[in-house]
Amino acid sequence: MNKNDDGRKNMPKSRCPYCDSRVVDSRTPTLKNSLELTVTDSADYFIQCPKCRKIVGLTIKPLHTASPLVTA
Ligand SMILES: [Zn+2]
Repeated sequence: MNKNDDGRKNMPKSRCPYCDSRVVDSRTPTLKNSLELTVTDSADYFIQCPKCRKIVGLTIKPLHTASPLVTA
């Protein structure tokens, strides 16, 4: 598969809140909109930015509106 065209190029991007580099590609705009990348430590998931190496909090918004899995 071509490194420059792996299908993710046209996907909605979520960017690092620290350095604005591309961190997450979402398959659909809806999925992208359900994600929130933050600098807080109260997120659902934590990933390391591949560029600035800072820890980025990743919150899945629907978890907090429609699911009993998270009580926050
Ligand atoms: Zn970054």
